[in-house]
Amino acid sequence: MKKELKFTQAMHVTQHKLPDFGLYCNQIKEIWDRKWVTNDGLLHERFKSELKRYLKVSEAELFTNGHLALETAIKALGLEGEIITTPFTFASTVHAITNCGLKPVFCDIEPETFNIDADQIEKYITDKTIAILAVHVFGNPCDVDKISELAKKYNLKVIYDAAHAFGVEINGRGIGNFGNVSMFSLHATKVFNSIEGGLLTFHDNTLNSKLKALKNFGITSLETVDFVGTNAKMNEFQAAMGLCNIKTIKEDISKRKSIYEEYAKHLKEIRQIQFLPQIEEVEHNYSYFPILLANNVMRDWLFEKMREYNVYTRKYFYPLCNDFGCYDYNSEETPIAANVSDRVLALPMYTELHVSDVKQICEIIKYELDNYN
Ligand SMILES: *Cc1c(COP(=O)(O)O)cnc(C)c1O
Repeated sequence: MKKELKFTQAMHVTQHKLPDFGLYCNQIKEIWDRKWVTNDGLLHERFKSELKRYLKVSEAELFTNGHLALETAIKALGLEGEIITTPFTFASTVHAITNCGLKPVFCDIEPETFNIDADQIEKYITDKTIAILAVHVFGNPCDVDKISELAKKYNLKVIYDAAHAFGVEINGRGIGNFGNVSMFSLHATKVFNSIEGGLLTFHDNTLNSKLKALKNFGITSLETVDFVGTNAKMNEFQAAMGLCNIKTIKEDISKRKSIYEEYAKHLKEIRQIQFLPQIEEVEHNYSYFPILLANNVMRDWLFEKMREYNVYTRKYFYPLCNDFGCYDYNSEETPIAANVSDRVLALPMYTELHVSDVKQICEIIKYELDNYN
């Protein structure tokens, strides 16, 4: 190891974005003035309209986290049967399907984008299939046109897990406009956060009242409960955090863009490494910086090596959801996902990361790979 490249403090893959302390204090002062802390407060409503404007969507509902938003979307669409999804995602996606009493069916991914391979979806469609739950992995859009064609042909609903895709656009259209419903996670580790938080976007305005009821115990009026609901409401402190953070989101994403460009500049010279390209018609959010190593042994080796330099990369996503102990599947059925999952490594990527840190991380990688045998 090359000692002078070691970081003095731990470098993690993400770092939570906190607004200016005074700004947050000012924002939450309103909560004391009104003595209203949760259940559709004024900050909640203001946050929702700012999000709708920023994401360029017509309808949206807020939730206390992304996972419960996703479960609520599945319930609101009244789905039963099988949902075709990807194993290359966070546990939440697949657990949401299972928790709602449906069966996840795993389709393999595209090697270039790590998203569900729309060309393979058809072979999994049976008379039990009711929906496709696709994930815009690392913020890269799925093949939304092909998925929409399939949905029309087989009369399926489409839900997008857009947890990674806050602010992403395709040809100027907000990513939340595709499919029946899209879920955004506003968790502390994501590009944009409200501490914890979730958002569903959609265009069918008959969904609003059902979603509102479902996230509040199914209560539809003072004396009526029409759905078996849950408690998934966003509170005013979360909305206040979101309102503060949205003020800087454009700057934050452009800082991430310079970090992406710095990584790309250094890493494109390293032949053992591949990384996700920028796509011409897509406005990216640079949420993560995953790299693919030549093979599994090299990935695990680099993961350990980086720790010696105080750089804590993540094997994201590994293991695959179809290898989880709680499910009875096998990743051999999705060979491309298995291969990507064995070779992937996420590098540090967050707003406050300095360009000089990125350079240093790349120097470590280059130095170590040069000495790999
Ligand atoms: C973060 C994440 C979720 C869950 O969101 P929470 O807000 O943490 O509940 C779901 N899917 C993916 C792909 C995620 O990365």
